[in-house]
Amino acid sequence: MVTRTVDLRSDTVTKPTEAMRAAMANAEVDDDVLSYDPSALRLETEMAKVTGKEAALFVPSGTMGNLVSVLVHCNIRGSEVILGNNSHIHIYENGGISTIGGVHPRTVKNNDDGTMDIDLIEAAIRDPRGEIVYPTTRLICLENTQANCGGRCLSVEYTDKVGELAKKHGLKLHMDGARIFNASIALGVPVHRLLQAADSASVCLSKGLGAPVGSVIVGSKSFIAKARILRKTLGGGMRQVGVLCAAALVALHETVLKLEDDHKKTKMLAEGLNQIKGLRLNVAAVETNIIFFDVVEGAKITAEKLCKNLEQHGILVMQESPVRIRVVLHHQISESDVQYALSCFKQALTGRVQEENGN
Ligand SMILES: *Cc1c(COP(=O)(O)O)cnc(C)c1O
Repeated sequence: MVTRTVDLRSDTVTKPTEAMRAAMANAEVDDDVLSYDPSALRLETEMAKVTGKEAALFVPSGTMGNLVSVLVHCNIRGSEVILGNNSHIHIYENGGISTIGGVHPRTVKNNDDGTMDIDLIEAAIRDPRGEIVYPTTRLICLENTQANCGGRCLSVEYTDKVGELAKKHGLKLHMDGARIFNASIALGVPVHRLLQAADSASVCLSKGLGAPVGSVIVGSKSFIAKARILRKTLGGGMRQVGVLCAAALVALHETVLKLEDDHKKTKMLAEGLNQIKGLRLNVAAVETNIIFFDVVEGAKITAEKLCKNLEQHGILVMQESPVRIRVVLHHQISESDVQYALSCFKQALTGRVQEENGN
């Protein structure tokens, strides 16, 4: 019988805290489609401030945040966006920029550290003289942290360079900053500085920040004005949304302070996993709250069987490929959860339990 659950599938599994539930119960609300909801306005004002942008807009999800942002920048069908081949927008958002926006994706290879080579980005920009056959490049998208590259952080220097390149070619730069707060904490750089070169950004509230629902997009006043209309078009205009924004404000004030601890626990888990025979990972590449690791050939069990075995002990992880597993930490995973998870991994892979199982 499972006596304990440690859910490492994603940081989206966080549950609202007591403080969030209390804030939701007491939230001041009004109709947000008409921009009357005071809690939404408060959240948007605060998010604009921390991100260093003129304005902000609450959206139901990160997917809608990215979609709205790309579509505002690429408002002419047949526009092209340059983005990483491993980016969330390209892989996990149902191709919405194409199916809904008529925007063509041009992928550039993501390196292991989440970057795309600057010269490869530049080479992917369409020559306007070829407009009779080419789509028109209008936008570059970056992702920080780069989820599918193991939560790697993009540095300010790199982001600024891409920003300069975009400017040089008259393009916009959008940052998928679903976990930009994780990047900020890991790099020791304020969020507004990380986003300085970006014309717009999308920030998830319901990942490591632990709010139940929502993302916020940020940018210039005119960008947000257009985004507000598009959000309504896409069915994302909600009424008494302050109930959600109140929880998000608590996330912004309280959970952010726990991210550094999440990263420490992630490092601890990575170091522990690295010592287990049969697993392979690069501990140095673990910069934030995500770990990718492989079950090596010749290990006692396959990745699939390992996941099943772990599940029987209440450890939930995400299998990414026949050999690869992903785990993600968040503020509701304790140090003792990490120790318990490690002991379950050890037992599954070596048949021995080296730690006490906790409770
Ligand atoms: C989760 C995530 C999104 C999308 O957020 P949803 O709220 O799940 O739609 C976008 N980008 C990245 C990098 C993410 O991790």
